[in-house]
Amino acid sequence: MKETSMNSGTSAISFTSVTKSYEQNGASFEVLQGITGEVKQGDFVMVLGPSGSGKSTLLSICNLMKTPDEGEVYIHGKEVRDWNISELRRTVGLAFQSAPVIDGTVRDNLSLAEKLHQKQLYTPEELARLTGLSDELLDRSARDLSGGQRQKLSLARTLSNPSSILLLDEITSALDPVSALEIEELIIRLHQEKKLTVMWVTHNIEQAKRVADTIWFMADGRVLETAESGVFFTDPKHEAAREFLKGGTR
Ligand code: ADP
Ligand code: MG
Repeated sequence: MKETSMNSGTSAISFTSVTKSYEQNGASFEVLQGITGEVKQGDFVMVLGPSGSGKSTLLSICNLMKTPDEGEVYIHGKEVRDWNISELRRTVGLAFQSAPVIDGTVRDNLSLAEKLHQKQLYTPEELARLTGLSDELLDRSARDLSGGQRQKLSLARTLSNPSSILLLDEITSALDPVSALEIEELIIRLHQEKKLTVMWVTHNIEQAKRVADTIWFMADGRVLETAESGVFFTDPKHEAAREFLKGGTR
């Protein structure tokens, strides 16, 4: 079981009235309809909500993979558009289901930060150890890894930067249950040992029950409900959340 996280009370991520629209078939579609909320340093938040509710968009505006239309997003108190973009992306790590790897060996993948920024926090050996990848894999082609190993590699690459915030978008969705549990344990350990702030989108309700401290429930581009995990799962306040938990609208 995970220990309750230490909460310093300082803001890691803060959203104020954030909106974002996409053009779809010539019409404008508002995917985020005014998001306001705060994730404190050291928090472990899981974001739940039906497909299309804006979860991925919400994560991707935190490191400017996408740009908000209106409103502000503050990372450690500084608005995303005021950050140097490469500093922002080194601070806010974003990992996806697809766990992209570069051509070459596992070691090449784990030396990328050194190559790009001439600095990295850990050696490839240390990164492998940190994420539970065996040393023997270092000289293998990254393309030959299993899904679970690729996901560990992708997380290890994120950790080679001084990330203090980890954004995870459905990272275990393509994995078998055993690999998914290993990744869960890894994230919990990193959260505790490295004092990382975690914001994790999942569609796996059992996973959210196992690991979340706090749940953000999204529907139609809004955060409908923010609650302590135990409270959310036993007593969701909104009908949409109750429907979601029954499995009606995943
Ligand atoms: P979720 O992660 O909750 O499924 P998303 O944030 O991915 O939701 O997207 C919400 C909606 O926005 C989806 O219905 C999708 O069709 C639309 N959308 C996402 N990205 C784009 C894009 N680049 N261009 C147009 N529409 C998009
Ligand atoms: Mg998504």
